[in-house]
Amino acid sequence: MIFHPDIYERPAGEIARIRDRLLAETVDRAIARSPYYRETLASTGPVRTAADLALLPTTSKEALQARPDDFLAVPAREVAELVSTTGTTGSPVFIPMTRNDVERLSENERRGFSWMGAAPGMRFHLAATMDNLFVAGLAYHEGIRKVGATAIRVGVQPAQRHLDLLRALRPEGMVAVPSMMAALARLARDSGIDLRAVAPRKALLIGDAIRGADLASNALGRLIEDAWGSELFSTYGLTEAGAAFHECPAHRGLHSHPDILLAEVVDEAGRPLPPGDAGELLITTLQVEAMPLIRYRTGDITFAVPGDCPCGRGGMRIGPILGRKAHRLKIKGTTVYPKTIEDALVAIEGVENFVLVADTEPDGTDRLLVRVGTHRAGDSAFRDAVGEALLAKARVTPAIVLDSPAAVDALLYEGGRRKPRTFVDHRSPGSGDGFPR
Ligand SMILES: [Zn+2]
Repeated sequence: MIFHPDIYERPAGEIARIRDRLLAETVDRAIARSPYYRETLASTGPVRTAADLALLPTTSKEALQARPDDFLAVPAREVAELVSTTGTTGSPVFIPMTRNDVERLSENERRGFSWMGAAPGMRFHLAATMDNLFVAGLAYHEGIRKVGATAIRVGVQPAQRHLDLLRALRPEGMVAVPSMMAALARLARDSGIDLRAVAPRKALLIGDAIRGADLASNALGRLIEDAWGSELFSTYGLTEAGAAFHECPAHRGLHSHPDILLAEVVDEAGRPLPPGDAGELLITTLQVEAMPLIRYRTGDITFAVPGDCPCGRGGMRIGPILGRKAHRLKIKGTTVYPKTIEDALVAIEGVENFVLVADTEPDGTDRLLVRVGTHRAGDSAFRDAVGEALLAKARVTPAIVLDSPAAVDALLYEGGRRKPRTFVDHRSPGSGDGFPR
């Protein structure tokens, strides 16, 4: 494995040459070693550049779920780690990694931490779990080790424990999910703790997006910035890819690491879209040994950020994840993702919680009901204000019902769920715009 830590400083042509050489190696190796790719890529022509890639078939999560062993490209004795996706849709996928794959993961995260200014002596409060087959906790721990900083492995703990450790150890960096940062902010406020006095200077936020389509902080990002006063760095990682995209100090999109993975944004037919156009993110892993993936459909919607990053680093950048492809709604001709509506709702004063319910109209189009939990449930002027805010931010006018926060909570955790479900999809398969779900 040969990494190119300085790849971002090279001219665009040279970045493309390195990437294309690694891509050709990946495809050749996958055909030679992975039964799945030997079969699916048997009749395709040689792949020598990223442009050739568009001619190859895509790889679905369903294929990975159905035939996991056929993707393995190394003997079982070389597998050092097994990690898993969370399995929110269908059965989980187990991803084998060799020692070199773990090293690739470490290098990928080392770059993200180094862009945050991590250095020996800098302490990082790690609020990502190391257990339960999750790759994230391992990735951040490895990245911190490789950059030479100090890891504080807190993991998933009650909010008070986080605050106690922040106060006791005064870390300069933090890794957490945005909802946890928001929950800690609420606890600190309610218990009269001065959060800014113990807040780390920088935080790497994983999972949910903290930026909007304009790349500026969304409501959740602003809420965290206001409460913590920390500089936030967004990241998007994918278990199956064993890699992540990272924000640089310019905060103008998420950089890909061109010698570690190749990203494409495509339309429904798998054709590459121009920068700025939203479509599905496809990932081709570079330098992966155990389970190389070619044109893997992430199911996530984003766009390639047009133009160069002010930081001067070359290579592709993606925007925030706008939503899940399977959740896409078309309401009265307007395409919208539930996430856009959720981001708008979070910003409205008086909205305590909410659940979005999608259904199919008799004519086959999508219908959306937004049930808002609020202490102003009888206030029709408030309902109108919510409607206006959604029209302004999400360009749609769904049906809005006001309810008590407790009633909405009951829906969010229906069936004894551990994590709230904010989007309930009752649409009949194949309805609406005919998108496969
Ligand atoms: Zn940059």
